[in-house]
Amino acid sequence: MLDVHGQSRALAQLQRALRGGRLAGTFMFAGPQGVGKFTLAVELARTVMCDRPRQVKNEGQVAGLPSDFVLTLPCGQCESCRAVEMKNHPDLHIITKELIRYHDKSGTSKGTTLSIQVIRGEITGDPAEGKEAKIAKRAFRGRGKFFIIDEADLMDLPAQNALLKMLEEPPPQTHMVLITASPQELLATIRSRSQLVEFGALPDAVIIKALIGAGLSRADAGLMGRLARGSLGRALRWLEDMRVIETKNSEAAERAEKKKARATTANEEEEASTEKFTPGGILAWTRALGGALDGLVSGRAGASEVAGLMTGFAEEYRDLQLVRDPLTSGDRAKRDGIQLLMAICAEWFADRLRHALGTPLKALLPGESGGLDHGMVPRLIASAREAEGLIDMNVNDKIVLAATTTRWEELLHQA
Ligand SMILES: [Zn+2]
Repeated sequence: MLDVHGQSRALAQLQRALRGGRLAGTFMFAGPQGVGKFTLAVELARTVMCDRPRQVKNEGQVAGLPSDFVLTLPCGQCESCRAVEMKNHPDLHIITKELIRYHDKSGTSKGTTLSIQVIRGEITGDPAEGKEAKIAKRAFRGRGKFFIIDEADLMDLPAQNALLKMLEEPPPQTHMVLITASPQELLATIRSRSQLVEFGALPDAVIIKALIGAGLSRADAGLMGRLARGSLGRALRWLEDMRVIETKNSEAAERAEKKKARATTANEEEEASTEKFTPGGILAWTRALGGALDGLVSGRAGASEVAGLMTGFAEEYRDLQLVRDPLTSGDRAKRDGIQLLMAICAEWFADRLRHALGTPLKALLPGESGGLDHGMVPRLIASAREAEGLIDMNVNDKIVLAATTTRWEELLHQA
């Protein structure tokens, strides 16, 4: 539990609840993605279900609690603790949108929302389908049961209503943790029945330290920490993507080598060697984008070059998500990729303005950009933000990219 860094306020709140022995039936863990909400929810469950929880004096471990406060921590040794670790505890139910593949018989759902089929199948039961209510069953191990709903805001309205009915009369010894980055998307009646635990964005230093610990150089960790905008989870996914890229590229190179050895004509040889991903992933994309934006500012590059670069990277981003989860929506993943790249461009423009105004920056996003008219920066950023919104509204991504980069070119070269 103490391994969740940078969230001492949430930790203190939960420790007080554990100490008082009055744990809420329903919690809402709200805050940005990738800051430790899910990890802490599992740790809370592990602590409550532990056979022999440890009692240790705080002594400065959790900021915001007195030093003689007695913390309640899982022992880490008992059968229950080990089962949580092995992800097979019978009383710990983790509900994700991906479970739709198990509950949707047609097998067509991409799981972009959390549907009522999942809520019924995993929590409230569905008599019509002969599925019993898992929530009404007794706890196997007798220390309560936990239901953790990840991305709870993705529940559609019928799902939320089904859950609400359950929250109105919760079975004894049952705890629910709703994890969400957008609490406003949940029904007010669900929010009012949950105890709110707020999580903040993590300080860059926490993220950078973790990335260096995972093997990144100081410069790379600094840049990635900057891009992660307070989300360690996001940074760790990118790091994982970089590893995937290395593996995939070396596999591709090996295949190309073999094919080359067999190739008899020049034609076949050409076909064989294609490197699929840009080594370095998001770090390389950011550096290349910085160069392209420099080119756009100086007039060395045109809008179509920037748009082309972004399209290529967004497709790589999509392919990486498909490696992670082959059943995910490729279209959604590409849109996420474009939004990520747009946010990087907006940040790049903002950096130039901050730099020009003398704001000290720990890590300036890479690029030169002398000659940028700083008065234009707010409009350039607004245009990037608008593009993010249009992508969200399912506007054709080619059109958005072309229109946005053309707009930037116009703004930059208005004489
Ligand atoms: Zn234990």
